Amino acid sequence: MQVLSGLSLAEIEEITDKLNASKYRARQIHNWIYLKSVNSIDEMTDLSVKFREELKKTAIVSDIKVKIKQMSLDGTIKYLLEFPDGECVETVLMRFDNRANLTACVSSQVGCAVNCSFCATGKRGFIRNLTYKEIVEQVLTIQRDTGLKVTNIVFMGQGEPLLNLDNVLKAMKIFNENFQIGARRITVSTSGILSGIDKLADIDMQSTLAISLHAPNHEIRRKLMQIENKYPMNELKSALKNYIQKTGRRITVEYLLIKDLNDTIDSAVQLAEYLDDLKCNINLIPYNSVNETGYQKPSKNSIMRFKSLLEQSGKKVTVRLERGADIDAACGQLSGKADKLPM
Ligand code: SAH
Ligand code: SF4
Repeated sequence: MQVLSGLSLAEIEEITDKLNASKYRARQIHNWIYLKSVNSIDEMTDLSVKFREELKKTAIVSDIKVKIKQMSLDGTIKYLLEFPDGECVETVLMRFDNRANLTACVSSQVGCAVNCSFCATGKRGFIRNLTYKEIVEQVLTIQRDTGLKVTNIVFMGQGEPLLNLDNVLKAMKIFNENFQIGARRITVSTSGILSGIDKLADIDMQSTLAISLHAPNHEIRRKLMQIENKYPMNELKSALKNYIQKTGRRITVEYLLIKDLNDTIDSAVQLAEYLDDLKCNINLIPYNSVNETGYQKPSKNSIMRFKSLLEQSGKKVTVRLERGADIDAACGQLSGKADKLPM
């Protein structure tokens, strides 16, 4: 059985060709999948019943299962999705009040090899890469389930997207061409895989790069992220400068704030220095408790102090709103719990 979700128009044409149908049929199917987000071939009502029956013998719309769906009071919806091999990833839909933006936070891998000390996904270790179709299917599942059209994509779910770059790039192309989501509305977040950053700089597709920095200096970053031993901050900075120069784009720096560890005045001053000559916006992320890490949330006061110290350097600083806190919508937190949840 062919899964239609995630196929390009040309790939759908191969199917319709085999069924001796016109290219126009392929275009109709493509629209049903990407623009109207149908759940089944039966819903493709501008295809004849006879043709739908033929198509049903060779294809299905999707083979992904919604295993858990949790809705937050703030409108955030979190899904745990299951692939046919039984592996699960999480995908989150975030709505921002007063804005027409519907942002899908997608996963790029099952688990993650980078193993940052604060992250629930990292604790699972790496299981496998997602195919580009599995990445695309996450967004289609949200659209099918809600009937809404996703407008923005962030690769901030499970996994390190730059360690699965080929599939991520293919998925981005499909988001761009099939979903008509502009590259600027797609954000790739990385822990700092230098080869991947260089490749993105060369491709220059005008998407947004977010870098999970989380520390003001080498010593603190090493404690939080093992990857700092492989790709230290000084080399990372050269790669980021090169990226900014080649693409002309401003990057986003993500900084997880952890109580007494990296939320001090000293840290703010050092971070401002490190970022001084980088064209970037800063997004502060108050740490979300994950069991067994020993880290704590920062206080409101220290978040505000950190923010205003950084703002003195002239950078735009935002604090990530705690979305879906009541449903554990922060990174990597649902799938870690899936085994423990009653089904
Ligand atoms: N692997 C990539 C993409 C995943 S993004 C990366 O690390 O950038 C996941 C985001 O959620 C990252 O910015 C990460 O630092 C953040 N995150 C992970 N664990 C978190 C926690 N316990 N609380 C708040 N944010 C967390
Ligand atoms: Fe992997 Fe990102 Fe989690 Fe680090 S924060 S373990 S890179 S998913």
